[in-house]
Amino acid sequence: MVLTQYSRSMTQNTIPPTVQLDDIVSLCKRRGFIFQGSEVYGGLAGTWDYGPLGVQLKRNIMQLWWKMFVDDLDGMYGVDAAILMNQKVWQASGHVDTFTDPLVECANCKGRFRADKLTDPNKCPTCGKTNTFGEARAFNMMFQTSVGPIADEKSISYLRPETAQGIFTNFKNIVDTFYPDVPFGIAQQGKAFRNEISPRDFVFRSREFEQMEIEYFVHPDCWQESFEMWIELCRKWFNLLGLPLESVHELEVLETDRAHYSKRTIDFEYDYPIGREELMGLAYRTDFDLANIQRVSGKSMEYRPKDGSASFVPHVIEPSFGLERAFMAVLCAAYRSDEQNGEKRIYLALPEHLAPVKYCVSPLLKNKPELVAKAREVYAQLKQKYGNIIWDDNGNIGKRYRRQDEIGTPYCVVVDFDTLEDDTVTVRDRDTTEQKRVAISELIS
Ligand code: ATP
Repeated sequence: MVLTQYSRSMTQNTIPPTVQLDDIVSLCKRRGFIFQGSEVYGGLAGTWDYGPLGVQLKRNIMQLWWKMFVDDLDGMYGVDAAILMNQKVWQASGHVDTFTDPLVECANCKGRFRADKLTDPNKCPTCGKTNTFGEARAFNMMFQTSVGPIADEKSISYLRPETAQGIFTNFKNIVDTFYPDVPFGIAQQGKAFRNEISPRDFVFRSREFEQMEIEYFVHPDCWQESFEMWIELCRKWFNLLGLPLESVHELEVLETDRAHYSKRTIDFEYDYPIGREELMGLAYRTDFDLANIQRVSGKSMEYRPKDGSASFVPHVIEPSFGLERAFMAVLCAAYRSDEQNGEKRIYLALPEHLAPVKYCVSPLLKNKPELVAKAREVYAQLKQKYGNIIWDDNGNIGKRYRRQDEIGTPYCVVVDFDTLEDDTVTVRDRDTTEQKRVAISELIS
């Protein structure tokens, strides 16, 4: 038996029954996926710590992304740029002046809110008083810090609010060291920081989060076809995440709502338990970023084609993926409950390639040394093959199954007395709960 290598048909993902955000939050805490950041000290708003299963699921998503968009695509180059960057990066990109959200303060309780996200702009959501908000002011969301022992104007730096600028600043380095043909892309995954006015909805709006971004450099005349290609690739990606396509919505952002430099933007939205919200964005950014770098740095960002045709500053298609929002969508799409033997069961129908644990191995009885020894053998062989394998000999078999169901382990393997005779084990399927006898040799082949 071999776990399928991310092969899912476009029709496989089904819309899950309604799930509440609280169900996801409590499962994540109960089973060690995500904890509140600095919990022991009362927490720090907008920050989250990933436990063993959370970090594994997150890495599985990141690795799948890297495989699909970097390893398996032609003309893709990965980078891992520093989080702290020269302040000129953020001046040139416009973040110092315009990366702001409108902030209002309640004159009664001093609560601060993002003006454009208030459900009732006249009523304070904390104290309930009406008409207590003053004028909204522009609040810059970048976390400022200083680099080196002297804190002055020149030492100002910021925790990056997006990974994209680390890509743009390396555009010339990639061109000069790899001589790529246009179109080509540069990809980066990593932390981004935004001092969100009101972090909310679990990891959906955090102050520290991870992005997976690509800048795809194209000839200005060819941006449309590349844009279409990226829409298709995004759809394939959602399918690999196990998201039902009916729950993903493509919102063509109107010209009036687009950034001034963008000629086309699609927000991919997902039906989260909190409503339909942005999962990721795809934007045609023209030559805005490279032209800014050229202007502020004084260095040419022109690309010279190998065929001798005219040089140009490439235009850019930017698919920008938020890891936490993908993570949340994956959990919401996988969350199921049913009844087994008269008892309520919760399970995560995660795609096998994302499941944090691939197999759980148990001896039927933990006080029979011969069963334990054989089960340890099977465990060692599976661990060598898949890495993420769990050993569980606590409680009865039914309880072990429930624990694994809740964390989305696709298969539970049980070694019993028959195993000692015929080298077969029981393999139980998470979704159907069906059990099959399988030869150990088949399991590890
Ligand atoms: P929003 O309108 O929801 O604030 P945005 O349009 O500002 O998002 P972008 O700047 O386009 O977001 O960032 C790209 C992606 O990064 C988003 O689609 C989202 O997946 C993710 N992202 C942005 N802000 C956050 C956040 N505070 N917490 C978690 N993920 C985020």
